Amino acid sequence: MTGPLLSVQGLTKHFPLKTGQVKAVDGVSFDVAAGETLALVGESGCGKSTTGRMLLRLTDPTAGSIAFDGEDFLGLGRAALRRRRREMQIVFQDPYASLSPRNRVEDIVAEPLDVHGLCESRAARRERVIELLRLVGLDAIHLRRHPFEFSGGQRQRIAIARALAPQPRLIVADEPVSALDVSVQAQVVNLMQDLQEKFGLAYVFISHDLAVVRHIAHRVAVMYLGRLVEIGTTETLFSAPHHPYTQALLSAAPVPDPERKRTRIVLAGDVPSPANVPSGCHFHPRCPVAQAICRESVPALRDVGGGHRAACHFGKPFPIPV
Ligand code: SF4
Repeated sequence: MTGPLLSVQGLTKHFPLKTGQVKAVDGVSFDVAAGETLALVGESGCGKSTTGRMLLRLTDPTAGSIAFDGEDFLGLGRAALRRRRREMQIVFQDPYASLSPRNRVEDIVAEPLDVHGLCESRAARRERVIELLRLVGLDAIHLRRHPFEFSGGQRQRIAIARALAPQPRLIVADEPVSALDVSVQAQVVNLMQDLQEKFGLAYVFISHDLAVVRHIAHRVAVMYLGRLVEIGTTETLFSAPHHPYTQALLSAAPVPDPERKRTRIVLAGDVPSPANVPSGCHFHPRCPVAQAICRESVPALRDVGGGHRAACHFGKPFPIPV
């Protein structure tokens, strides 16, 4: 394969209301290469989780296209979709809610094996589940236990083992460590990195936590009110953000080096409702450097150098007044 593993073009999800519609996702485009981690970041309600769900067709897009390994994913019939779904798995934020409380770990982890008919015997199924548990740092002694007998971090390891079961090439991880204590977050993130290295996995890593994203992602895509406003490598996006919204987000994130000072950019007002999005650049009512054109015209996502793209009419880092 020479092209990207996943290619998303103009992905859109509008939910109809009695009057008008909620523009949850509004024309998002990006690629993910095999073995790469792309982080989708933004505040709550920016459309990142809806985007993640559409990637697996858990939510149907209103418009746009998704190609997986060059194949039109949205056009697949039932049988072909089932086959492809083996290669794309999801891990949710709350492992307790995503693991059936009545089932034992063995059956939870084996669920994708059963769905896709991947084990020929009970013995082979058990052997594979034990192998998967070991991959995530658990053991055969955990097979007969229920989710409530585990800590939050262990439950997320079980969810990861289940996602790994059908040998996927891509995992959509929707806030996978947000519900965990900070010390446990690091362990789960390191586990995900190890598994990526071992199996060449690609991740779409959805998060609002920039410190975690900086640690795990190769590239970062920033969303605001259903649109992508900036995308680039983690290094360039963190060191030279071009979009004023990205600059504000980064200014609020903890700095790894406490000696370094950073001035926090406080944005005016709250994120507007996706049912009533501002005209032109969605960010204009809160943007500290907005100008007249920003109210009228939607900025395109333009290359600002080296494949780094930003959706701002002015396309360069601003000296933001603070
Ligand atoms: Fe701010 Fe205008 Fe750029 Fe939008 S287009 S981010 S409002 S300067």
